[in-house]
Amino acid sequence: MSIPKNYRVLFMQGGASLQFSAVPLNLAKQHFRAGYFNTGYWSQKAMAEAKTYVDVVELANSAASGFKSFPQMLQPIDEQMDYIHCTPNETIGGVELYDWPDTFSIPLVADMSSTILSRPFDVSRFGVIYAGAQKNIGPAGLAIVIVREDLLAGSEVDADIPKLLNYQALANANSMLNTPPTFAIYLANLVFDWLIEQGGVSAIEKMNLLKASILYDAIEESTLVNNDIEPGLRSRMNVPFFFHDTDLQNDYLKQAEENGLLNLNGHRSAGGCRASIYNAMPLEGVEALVQNLKEFEKNHV
Ligand code: PMP
Repeated sequence: MSIPKNYRVLFMQGGASLQFSAVPLNLAKQHFRAGYFNTGYWSQKAMAEAKTYVDVVELANSAASGFKSFPQMLQPIDEQMDYIHCTPNETIGGVELYDWPDTFSIPLVADMSSTILSRPFDVSRFGVIYAGAQKNIGPAGLAIVIVREDLLAGSEVDADIPKLLNYQALANANSMLNTPPTFAIYLANLVFDWLIEQGGVSAIEKMNLLKASILYDAIEESTLVNNDIEPGLRSRMNVPFFFHDTDLQNDYLKQAEENGLLNLNGHRSAGGCRASIYNAMPLEGVEALVQNLKEFEKNHV
């Protein structure tokens, strides 16, 4: 990932969701105010949790497009913000966002749960990056936090920050303030080794681009399903698709499962279908899905 030397990598517990609290607790020390890009389900979860601790400013949102395009600015970034939060991959919406506006000296914090290790990105653009491990790293429950050193809480003892969420305390203890989730970390290490064997993050990006393009091409060609995310913002990791005829969708999911294509049901809040094609999904898995979609279509038009 080419993480610069002035960053610390922390192994934490509580998944990505606990970072929704850890971020404001560690970073909002001056103004108790933070800007959030509202790009869909997960950024809204992060905002809701942060409201317990700080004054949350909704900087931008993409509600007008149903969260399918880049968010429109609602108000400018100002100096009274302790940090600015973004979600580069909205897992449920299937939207992947790349270029964030300049936040000047205000640290940009990113929930990279569905982005991390899928492609190279410039770590130095961010003050804090956090990710739940369960997509491209290892078992659920483990979270990886990459913090620029100057943003560590400053003190190991801060009455406002529970010790296990205190980035400085964790950094000082090499993430071993208490018994770390050893098995999850062990598995993450195996996944890191596997990724290095694949050629690392740039090699896996090529594979991910190939997998995603095969699947989106099939969706574009299909007369039964569609994906209406703006083409440049379609996620490489999670691909939602919707049947025009919802009755047909149930038949589709049933026969897909009979053919060994599992967990294609969309997220309960989004409906439709969703193919999760994280690093661990081989090209053959995507090819099998495309083949199955085509056959289903042949039999149903
Ligand atoms: N953020 C994003 C972008 C996610 O995709 C998820 C999980 N799907 C979460 C946060 C929540 O992660 P966790 O379940 O590890 O708390």
